[in-house]
Amino acid sequence: MTDRAPEPADAAARRAVKPVICYPTAGLPAPDTALYRAARAGARKLAEVTVPPREAATFRVQAGQFFRITSTEGPQVGDLNLWNAHDLAERFYSGKTRALHGTHLTEGDRMWSGFPYLRPMATITRDTLNWYGIDAFGGSVHDVIGTRCDPYTGNLLAGTQYHHCCHSNLTRALADETGLPLAEAEARVHDVLNVFMCTGFTRDTGQYFMKASPVRPGDFLEFFAEIDLLGALSACPGGDCSAEHSSDAAACHPLLVEVFAPKEGALAGWQSPGLNGYDRSHGR
Ligand SMILES: [Zn+2]
Repeated sequence: MTDRAPEPADAAARRAVKPVICYPTAGLPAPDTALYRAARAGARKLAEVTVPPREAATFRVQAGQFFRITSTEGPQVGDLNLWNAHDLAERFYSGKTRALHGTHLTEGDRMWSGFPYLRPMATITRDTLNWYGIDAFGGSVHDVIGTRCDPYTGNLLAGTQYHHCCHSNLTRALADETGLPLAEAEARVHDVLNVFMCTGFTRDTGQYFMKASPVRPGDFLEFFAEIDLLGALSACPGGDCSAEHSSDAAACHPLLVEVFAPKEGALAGWQSPGLNGYDRSHGR
């Protein structure tokens, strides 16, 4: 530990400075939620995939379609990765999504891709847990503050070799879907949207915490695909994440992913977002 530095005379005044929001989102292109709602109302189900406990599964969604993640049998959190279906280099950027929308996502928030793309990949259109808000511990649901559980951290902390962390589940699923060797698939796996997971930072030490998810069978999170997507979802070995997440100790359940297509013409006037407009000259 480092020694605590002496407080300056004006420490209280410096602490009392009011925060400003880093990225006021009023300037972001807003999703046309009324159009999405109308399109969803007439949509038909195209496909479904069940993600087995402690495993991951992939799914494909075309731009303009919807996908829904449902907890079907018991409280279970899911780790979600998204890629551009035609270019795995474009993938979900949890850090910028957090900077834009806050620590936890809900209806109206979007999942943004990384540089140099930086465009909405998906928009959350329904969240049956949106009643939860922020609890007395500072916890909330569907975070973009965690990473994904992985075997490297477990090895670092406890010397373990555990193979069903979300990182490994997502790696195997992406390799199986694309034919990529395991090591190349692993490099495409990225920090996740923690679907249904209830997390926050402790107020006294600022540490990342989790607690039992409030999700119950029938709860779902639904998305509108803004671009053609390849998705991978892992049913986390933490189950409801009430205790631990890098072993086979927790009770785990499957997750259901369903894909829905709106009726022909239901998205009239809507366009899949183009690439970010920055010219990429970086001052040269
Ligand atoms: Zn996990």
